Amino acid sequence: MLYRVMAKSELPSLIQGFMESYEVVAPVKRGNRHVFDVVETPEDIVLDYVQTDSSPKKYLFPPVEELMRFDAQMNLVEDFSKVVTPRVIFGVHACDISGFNRLDVALAQGKYCDPYYKAHRDATMVVGISCQPGAECFCNLMASDEVQYGYDLFLYDIGDKYLVSMSSVEATNILEACCDISEATDEDRKVFRHLTRERQRAFNPDIPHVDDVPMLMDVFHSDPFWEELGSRCLSCSACASVCPTCYCFDIVDVLEPDSCQGVRERHWDACTNPDFALVAGGYNFRPTGRERVRHRMYHKLNGFMVNHDRMLCVGCGRCVSACKVGINPIEVLRFFERKGAEDAK
Ligand code: SF4
Ligand code: SF4
Repeated sequence: MLYRVMAKSELPSLIQGFMESYEVVAPVKRGNRHVFDVVETPEDIVLDYVQTDSSPKKYLFPPVEELMRFDAQMNLVEDFSKVVTPRVIFGVHACDISGFNRLDVALAQGKYCDPYYKAHRDATMVVGISCQPGAECFCNLMASDEVQYGYDLFLYDIGDKYLVSMSSVEATNILEACCDISEATDEDRKVFRHLTRERQRAFNPDIPHVDDVPMLMDVFHSDPFWEELGSRCLSCSACASVCPTCYCFDIVDVLEPDSCQGVRERHWDACTNPDFALVAGGYNFRPTGRERVRHRMYHKLNGFMVNHDRMLCVGCGRCVSACKVGINPIEVLRFFERKGAEDAK
């Protein structure tokens, strides 16, 4: 990996450089919240945010996406090629880039590549930014507090400068054209190491680190804990909407009033929806909140790990705020911590 240093005062010039050829999406302030949105000027961007309400996933995997057009009467599908907007997602935290990398595994790198997701991903540059953890962040427990790939540039705040990790030729060319960059000095590296250690110490120590979570989930699969957790679920889908790694979807055919021409769309779905597992014949293979919430937590903390050697949860903490009845991975970690304490008695 190549590293260079740029002055913070040059940031507007870098963003302006991206704006010449790309739509730029970045964190902006809306009231007392932060969201990712399209920006018109560098001044719109707010980089010292703790967490945005929802993740930038929507730019790679839109909430509603047209898949194809068809003529139901002629039984014809129109030729369809995805038109995507060349875009830079600027100011993304390591946890959300880790989220993109998880989505890549699920949607772009498997046996069946999702061409729609891949088209967005290929047309998107990602510029990461270092951050300070909030009280609900636990990316450090999910191996997502640092990221080594999945971005074009990553800016580490080292005071009045950024240490820039450069990972793509295209972004590096823009950086070099817009900013006066230099080699990192020993002092820059020292400051970087010091701030990295400080950040590690800033994570909330009350969120338990539990070893062997996937194995424990198998052992306690029938524990009454899941009944209690599931009975609280409102099936509101807020957790899946804000999550950077949820990728469940439904397919909907929308017919014109003439009942001939139509559009096939995919819409975000959530495994906590009561009819998510409803199949033909009226059978529902996850009929209760217990099964649905348990399935969600298993996918995040067990199943994806078993298949891909990493958790599907990146510890961004968004569902901790979004779920109004306190269902989130931290509660699962706390349950296993309690179980461990009981076993030790
Ligand atoms: S499950 Fe919750 S904490 Fe984990 S990645 Fe999704 S929103 Fe973030
Ligand atoms: S777990 Fe919470 S946020 Fe998710 S669907 Fe249930 S009530 Fe809504």
